Amino acid sequence: MSVAPGLDAFNTLGVPATADRLVLVESERALQALLREPTAQRGELVVLGGGSNIVLKRHVPGTVAVLRTRGMQIEAGRGERVNVTAAAGESWHGLVRFTLGQGLSGLENLALIPGSVGAAPLQNIGAYGVELADRLVSLRAMDVDSGAVTEFQRGECGFAYRDSRFKSSDAGRFIILDVTLGLSREVQPAVDYPELRLELQRLGRSELSPALIAEAVVRVRRRKLPDPRRVGNAGSFFKNPVVSASVAEGLRSKVSGLVEHRQGDGEVKLSAAQLIDRAGFKARAAGKVGVWPRQALVLVNRGGASGADVLAFGQSIRAEVQRLYGVTLELEPQVYGVD
Ligand SMILES: Cc1cc2nc3c(=O)[nH]c(=O)nc-3n(C[C@H](O)[C@H](O)[C@H](O)COP(=O)(O)OP(=O)(O)OC[C@H]3O[C@@H](n4cnc5c(N)ncnc54)[C@H](O)[C@@H]3O)c2cc1C
Repeated sequence: MSVAPGLDAFNTLGVPATADRLVLVESERALQALLREPTAQRGELVVLGGGSNIVLKRHVPGTVAVLRTRGMQIEAGRGERVNVTAAAGESWHGLVRFTLGQGLSGLENLALIPGSVGAAPLQNIGAYGVELADRLVSLRAMDVDSGAVTEFQRGECGFAYRDSRFKSSDAGRFIILDVTLGLSREVQPAVDYPELRLELQRLGRSELSPALIAEAVVRVRRRKLPDPRRVGNAGSFFKNPVVSASVAEGLRSKVSGLVEHRQGDGEVKLSAAQLIDRAGFKARAAGKVGVWPRQALVLVNRGGASGADVLAFGQSIRAEVQRLYGVTLELEPQVYGVD
């Protein structure tokens, strides 16, 4: 009798799940070979990196391929510019540390984001005022249908807030193989984010180096966010909602001190955490699932939760925020499998 492989260790929420088949992929050649197999076709194949942005239901039919490809290279450009290319299976934070060790500036605000390099473009990871799209030069990706490898320049990736073509219009079609980032030997400080500025003041050093900014980012993140190695979570469970200026104006009377970030197109990005908090969910738990007391956007597995438990709790938050404020919250993680 064969046993379905477990995915518990491959998702940071730590929910129990199985797959028909689990494959660890260590090279592009192995990936190409896998894609020729009948059980690894589009629709039956789920590609994972660190499993830090997914919710798994009980069983994932088909093949789950975890990318474990390695390699980071520096290529000197003109003047201060330096391009760094990293394989999809490298850890994102490992790459950030590597670039800091080389004295390069560009990724310091994105320190300590869990997960892999290959998943970073998928939702255009971002934190503390910087997004991947600000640094990405190009990426290479394999077409799941043909095995062909294509290079995409930044402008071809369809990047938007927590989105890209690889997550939306071309979801499931491409497997990202490596990314090339444009960094600099000169410091390019992006420290407008209030919490980050405050932390830098606390650190009290006058010269802003990439390593110092990264240290401040890491301190803020450690204070605010649960460490997935200790408390199961998938980071932000919802995207920050973007609404029209008139909707935002209507909300001001309902939510005192409404957090509003004006977007270029006249729309307004709200803080999902604030709406969840005001809806009374902060530090609230429903059995095995709860809201992280220091960041209402993060749902945590308090022990023994299933993917269905987490999704049901998320749904109760969505329904309440919709009822109170008329704002629809969109899930950030990808959901896979069946119950
Ligand atoms: C504590 C915590 C804090 C977080 N903070 C942030 C934050 O500040 N900013 C932010 O943007 N995100 C944040 N996240 C979310 C998460 O870390 C990122 O989305 C990360 O990029 C996910 O990487 P992963 O390798 O774990 O992806 P996975 O969870 O393995 O996969 C996520 C999605 O990407 C796809 N995918 C994975 N690898 C590839 C590939 N090589 N090619 C194509 N598709 C692929 C998967 O199929 C899936 O759809 C946080 C998560 C946690 C747990």
